[in-house]
Amino acid sequence: MKKTFQHRIKANPQTHQKAEKWLSLCRQLYNDCLNERIIAYKENKKSIFQYSQMRKLPQLKKTFPDFKQVNSQTLQDVIQRLDKAYQGFFRRVKNKEKAGFPRFKGQNRYNSFTLKQTGWKLNGRYLEIKNIGRFKLFLSRPIEGDIKTITIRRTLTNQWFVSFACDNVSQKLLPKTGKEIGIDMGCESFLTDSNGQKIDNPRFFKNSQSILIKRQQKLSQKVKGSNRRNKTRLLVAKIHQKISNQRKDFHFKTANKLVKENDKIYIEKLNSFKSFKGLNKSMRDVAWFQFFNILRFKAEEAGREVVEVPAQNTSQLCSRCGQIIEKDLSVRIHKCSCGLEIDRDWNAALNILRLGQSLRVIPRIS
Ligand SMILES: [Zn+2]
Repeated sequence: MKKTFQHRIKANPQTHQKAEKWLSLCRQLYNDCLNERIIAYKENKKSIFQYSQMRKLPQLKKTFPDFKQVNSQTLQDVIQRLDKAYQGFFRRVKNKEKAGFPRFKGQNRYNSFTLKQTGWKLNGRYLEIKNIGRFKLFLSRPIEGDIKTITIRRTLTNQWFVSFACDNVSQKLLPKTGKEIGIDMGCESFLTDSNGQKIDNPRFFKNSQSILIKRQQKLSQKVKGSNRRNKTRLLVAKIHQKISNQRKDFHFKTANKLVKENDKIYIEKLNSFKSFKGLNKSMRDVAWFQFFNILRFKAEEAGREVVEVPAQNTSQLCSRCGQIIEKDLSVRIHKCSCGLEIDRDWNAALNILRLGQSLRVIPRIS
């Protein structure tokens, strides 16, 4: 299976400067290629594809020798990223989703570059990149499998990381438990499972969130371009990063527990998500999306299965008798004439489990 290993890296100021220079050149190339595509389309209704832009790279290096410093595959990857942005745009247009056209990347908006098989090597505790220098690697766990690409990334708070994208990483299969579970993502608790157990949103989120709001308010009061504003912006970026790390950690712990205890986990299909009204809705959707990705990944690693259920009406349907009991979000208890009276999210999780189990493919006899 595939797996990505991410590690912190550090180097001396000159090395970091060179890495910054690569980022800046990659950003320039990205914006130039985007510009070329836009102009070609405006003036001649012509589309330009990645290979024709890649063919121009040798010429670019002749005209602007700075680009000679940057690994060729890294430059190709920049054009591939632009191509992906275009494909994503057209896919969303086709699906009639909200689609933003690929954008020019501003100064702090291009934060990583990728190398493939050449131009770098691992040397003990060090990562050496040709024409940049040597980074010290902070390995928290060993890298497994075959490394396919490495991506160097700078965060908004100026920390640097490397991600090794690996293939052929062996699974760590867990013994079968004979158990299956349905989970309902909630707004009051993070999730409720079909055994009636709830996992709450950790309290530290709330603290971090309120710090974030305060700092964002401060930021909006500062004069644009001022030193103080820049300092405050760094503080906002720092708390953002802290929240994102805390969330990831919480997601991993929750996913590990579910995967350890169950052979099969039934979840709601994302596009059928109930929408919650309110400010935090989109943030919550993003968090769920991330959680499901981690859950799928952990399940694959352990030889477990995550099944998406196109769930509708899961909170209204009675999980015992199938009657529709309409209730708005404020009603926390599902109460049915069949006698079932349980927490509404527990009822929903039971429906997800049942719907999922009913989807099982029955072998056809021909
Ligand atoms: Zn009922």
